[in-house]
Amino acid sequence: MQTNQGNLTLETLRFDNSFVRELPADNETVNRRRQVHHACYSRVRPLQVAKPQLLAFSPEAAALLNLPPEECRRNLFAQIFSGNALLPGMDPHAACYGGHQFGNWAGQLGDGRAINLGEVLNLSGERSTLQLKGAGPTPYSRNADGFAVLRSSLREFLCSEAMHHLGIPTTRALSLMLTGEPVERDMFYDGHPKEEPGAVICRIAPNFIRFGNFEIFAARNDLATLQQLTDYTIRTFFPQLGNPGKNSYIGLFREACHSTAKLMVQWLRVGFVHGVMNTDNMSILGLTIDYGPYGWLEGYDPAWTPNTTDAAGRRYCFGRQAQIAHWNLAKLANALYPLVEETAPFEEILQDYTRVFDQHWQEMMAAKLGLQRFDPASDQAMVEELFLLLMEVETDMTIFFRALGQVAEVLVQEQEAVEVCRQVLHPAWYQPEELNPAYQERLAAWLVRYQQRLRADSLEKGARQKHMNQVNPKYVFRNYLAQQAIDQAEAGEYQRIYELLDLLRRPYDEQPEREHFAAKRPEWARNRPGCSMLSCSS
Ligand code: AMP
Ligand code: MG
Repeated sequence: MQTNQGNLTLETLRFDNSFVRELPADNETVNRRRQVHHACYSRVRPLQVAKPQLLAFSPEAAALLNLPPEECRRNLFAQIFSGNALLPGMDPHAACYGGHQFGNWAGQLGDGRAINLGEVLNLSGERSTLQLKGAGPTPYSRNADGFAVLRSSLREFLCSEAMHHLGIPTTRALSLMLTGEPVERDMFYDGHPKEEPGAVICRIAPNFIRFGNFEIFAARNDLATLQQLTDYTIRTFFPQLGNPGKNSYIGLFREACHSTAKLMVQWLRVGFVHGVMNTDNMSILGLTIDYGPYGWLEGYDPAWTPNTTDAAGRRYCFGRQAQIAHWNLAKLANALYPLVEETAPFEEILQDYTRVFDQHWQEMMAAKLGLQRFDPASDQAMVEELFLLLMEVETDMTIFFRALGQVAEVLVQEQEAVEVCRQVLHPAWYQPEELNPAYQERLAAWLVRYQQRLRADSLEKGARQKHMNQVNPKYVFRNYLAQQAIDQAEAGEYQRIYELLDLLRRPYDEQPEREHFAAKRPEWARNRPGCSMLSCSS
């Protein structure tokens, strides 16, 4: 569907606030922290900020609302998306949800620093919920302040858009705004809080409903509200499932399992690690949501996690994400169970998750390798050997797969395989001097095997690399690139944000003048906070 045909202005946006209209509201209106019962949301107004300043907007995200760039440059835009002004038709509110955090039920969480402004229908009838993040406390803020700092807001803004351009389902980011107010954060949790620039982003998604929105009502045995929320979700976002009822509840769960399985495959394809896959950070639509201490694989390592809070357990490390998603889906099943009162359909669908995941994973792996289809008999072992090789010496995942597209186009003879590896794959190795001859021979042997496999999979010359370049990105939002942009922004220099936004718009294209952004992580970034490790403090 074409979303950006025709232009609107801020004043002509059409609001249709289905969430607040159709679901029960908290009847207490004072904005104080508390447990909220029998309600899906609490009305709450964003706080006024001192000096809103637009740092960046995403023209593609604005186009989803039919807003042309001129609209985003208006002072009114900065006022609205920093929380200082509301448009007629907006009905700001924070949602109530719970969640399992690091494997344990955490009770009520909720939008502690997110405020939904309202839902917009664009000219094609597509629904977008506009959500500010960092616009002040809500009844769900618990012991936190409701604000966000520049570093984490910049990371979320750029990464959401980068993910979108990689073709991965995600919440979007419309704008990144400075508030002109300081926010205190103890970044290392070591008793040395510091003032940081406050920021607000506006995120966009059809909805921001998480597994935890269902879990909270099931946990409280509030089945009436659970059913209202589930019926609303089906009616509004899954009308193809038919009228709300047992069949469509099961259908909703199946949809969530399938979209989540596919999302996990997409993360694995590009080396993305979410970092905090708690059930409150899992979207019912299968979108990537809540960019916190996420990171991108540099050296291929399934055990890697960017999240310092998870460093000991590695529950949310790269290689476990598909399994954790399955665990989270089981929690969603528990939450929906009271509406169905039969375990068999849920169990069946949960089992099927593995099949769906495997099928999509195989297709994805075949595409990354430039094969037209995955043949488990030969390819499973070949892929396993490849990943063992990549793990054995620190090999940049993104550079490696991109370079493999080049290798796939040349016919490598056994005698020259070592040399081809050295030449083409060299930029992917972090310590090329450490590659011993035995390793090089093993890699060369793999390459020969790979080439034999390619020959059995006929494709015209040139076509293979072209296909591979469409799934193996050249540019990802590398951890150190994010940190450099943050360092510069904190010093009042914003050029890098625009440069990266533009770079990451075409992640699969060669961009020769920007080759340096494809480089592997420089040594200074190896252990620098923000580059290789992040705390949840944001
Ligand atoms: P996260 O781990 O960022 O997904 O957040 C987990 C929960 O903590 C959510 O309910 C958030 O709304 C809440 N939260 C995180 N940071 C803050 C903050 N600075 N102020 C208020 N609530 C927060
Ligand atoms: Mg969250």
